[in-house]
Amino acid sequence: MTEQAPIVIVGTGLSGYSLARELRKQDKDTPIVMVTADDGVSYSKPMLSTGFTKDKDADGLAQASPDAMAEQLNLELRTHTTVTGIDVDGHTLLLGDERLAYHKLVLAWGADVIRLGLDGDGQERVFSINDLMDYRAFRKALANGRRIAIMGAGLIGCEFANDLRNGDYSVDVIAPSDAVMPGLLPDVAAHAVQRELENLGVRFHLETVVERLDRHGNGVRLNLANGDTVDADLVISAVGLRPRIGLAQGAGLATGRGITVNRALETSAPDVYALGDCAEVDGHVLLYVLPLMACARALAKTLTGERAEVSYGAMPVMIKTPCCPTAVCPPPAGADGDWEVERDGTSVKALFRNPQSEVLGFALTGRFAVEKQALSREVPPIHG
Ligand SMILES: Cc1cc2nc3c(=O)[nH]c(=O)nc-3n(C[C@H](O)[C@H](O)[C@H](O)COP(=O)(O)OP(=O)(O)OC[C@H]3O[C@@H](n4cnc5c(N)ncnc54)[C@H](O)[C@@H]3O)c2cc1C
Repeated sequence: MTEQAPIVIVGTGLSGYSLARELRKQDKDTPIVMVTADDGVSYSKPMLSTGFTKDKDADGLAQASPDAMAEQLNLELRTHTTVTGIDVDGHTLLLGDERLAYHKLVLAWGADVIRLGLDGDGQERVFSINDLMDYRAFRKALANGRRIAIMGAGLIGCEFANDLRNGDYSVDVIAPSDAVMPGLLPDVAAHAVQRELENLGVRFHLETVVERLDRHGNGVRLNLANGDTVDADLVISAVGLRPRIGLAQGAGLATGRGITVNRALETSAPDVYALGDCAEVDGHVLLYVLPLMACARALAKTLTGERAEVSYGAMPVMIKTPCCPTAVCPPPAGADGDWEVERDGTSVKALFRNPQSEVLGFALTGRFAVEKQALSREVPPIHG
């Protein structure tokens, strides 16, 4: 019975679809079933923060319908179907009252947005944008507003700030850190990006947080801990993501910050694998596209009979702030070394060198951003 069961992939984000594509390169016929809680439309999530810059709404960002994907990949696709549990001993997925047998199971079900529990009656104006359906709802709500407040000054908050200014919206960014993109950019590069976003008209309220959010006139008023207020029509919450581990924990799978997998993407349960935003791969939680693509390639090999381990090369991230093009490849956490900085206005080249003078990471802004590829070749791969 289990022998004939399909490979089941849960999730149709970039991880799920990339894996299905890689699988079909190796094997045209093995039965595959994809299950997703959303509408199954194929899209590139990083493009969500470029809608105004590229003049595309949610429909414009959609790449293929679920039917087209199912046909192209020769698989069965079940949309609007939420997995509610996993019976690892029975090799069965629970979909509410229904049970779906699997031969191999791949969890590619992403990460949840962190939601702040704020006081006040203005919560219905708060949007988190973590998929195309969220983006569609946000763009619809935008029809009634010009003033946007963004909570969070990380990569996603800064990208939306730039994009919304490109769409001529008024933008305020509120964040507890003293610089943008803390943990991702060294201060010198962060200040350059902030300066250019300010030149574009973004107002920053750093080292403070939103304490209350109340209806006010046609919009909302945000009361900040530093005593300031910000009036807005809509609020984007971009305060972080947390890998989805609840259902995996419920099924007895080992979890840490994400679903624990080794370099072969194997969880602690037989025939169950994980990749993408939900996975902690050999201790690394990397919520970016390049790592998930590398995982998809390795896992496709394993699932077609040739066990393979993922190897991560240098994985630079391009930050989509066109007012200040930025590329970053953070050094490994806790690495020994120092930043060596070359600066020309808001163009910054910061290289993280270890005591042997090897480059372990970099941050490039402005005119230096084009050096990304050459520098990526110098940075050693990520080891465990
Ligand atoms: C605005 C924005 C900009 C970004 N920009 C960049 C960038 O420039 N570069 C970069 O490298 N990364 C970027 N990222 C991160 C990158 O997009 C993500 O790491 C990646 O898309 C995650 O893909 P995923 O398939 O793992 O998860 P997701 O895309 O979240 O997919 C999860 C899937 O699982 C399904 N699912 C969840 N729970 C269940 C359930 N219980 N049952 C059934 N289905 C379920 C969902 O419906 C969905 O189909 C950005 C992210 C955002 C939000």
